[in-house]
Amino acid sequence: MNYLTPKQRRRIGYVSAGALGFGAIKTGLAGAAGTSSILAVGSGAVLLIPSLLRNCSLYGQVITSFVPVGRQVWLTIDDGPTPENTLEMLDVLSRNNAKATFFCIGKRIADNPELTTAIHSAGHSLQNHTYSHSVGTFWATTRRRALLEIRECSRLIQNASGISPIQFRAPAGLANPLLHRAVEDAGLSFVGWSASGLDGVPRDPTAVIERIMHSVKPGAIILLHESSLKNMKPGTRAKTLEILLKRLHQEGFTTTIPSLQLS
Ligand SMILES: [Zn+2]
Repeated sequence: MNYLTPKQRRRIGYVSAGALGFGAIKTGLAGAAGTSSILAVGSGAVLLIPSLLRNCSLYGQVITSFVPVGRQVWLTIDDGPTPENTLEMLDVLSRNNAKATFFCIGKRIADNPELTTAIHSAGHSLQNHTYSHSVGTFWATTRRRALLEIRECSRLIQNASGISPIQFRAPAGLANPLLHRAVEDAGLSFVGWSASGLDGVPRDPTAVIERIMHSVKPGAIILLHESSLKNMKPGTRAKTLEILLKRLHQEGFTTTIPSLQLS
């Protein structure tokens, strides 16, 4: 392997480590683990587990807070634009004098370019959340696939708004070392969150907001979603946003889109 550069060797190491993790865990679950398999499970799992932890910084920096002025928080809204919710949420933000960053999915931008333009025109930030948002597989992505997904999403945002994204958020917040390298290749900052109401699954707005408020402090990054889920009542996303903004206001918080002077 002497003909490989250190960088190339590191790449192969990552891939091997991932494969080892999968194989070893499979063996362990089948109940056929001998001493060597147990060791393999140990080493493979240690390398694999960070890929399955949201906002994990072990393989590269993930921004989970910013330096606030006073009681500022950063509101982020993922998975749009959507015909069901985007305009209604923009209306709520406008009525509450709030600004947000929308981490948008490329294929939804392609389907709804006018909604993407509307987000930008209302003074909010459009950022990159991959082209296809393949939650089930993207945490195990290759560097090449990740870069294609990121570049296509950025291209669509650029076409709709004239602005080049500077930030990236991974689907479900999961990442491996190769995804971190792809995000670096694309020149983007990797953004996570610190206050989530776990609203990626159907949940009562009150429960979502209580959970967020429990974690909110100045410099927090709040995560909300805008896509409608099965059995979700129409208007739930906008209602959740409206109540959250009122609670934040009551507790003296203001929203901002930070200029990335990050802590
Ligand atoms: Zn998402």
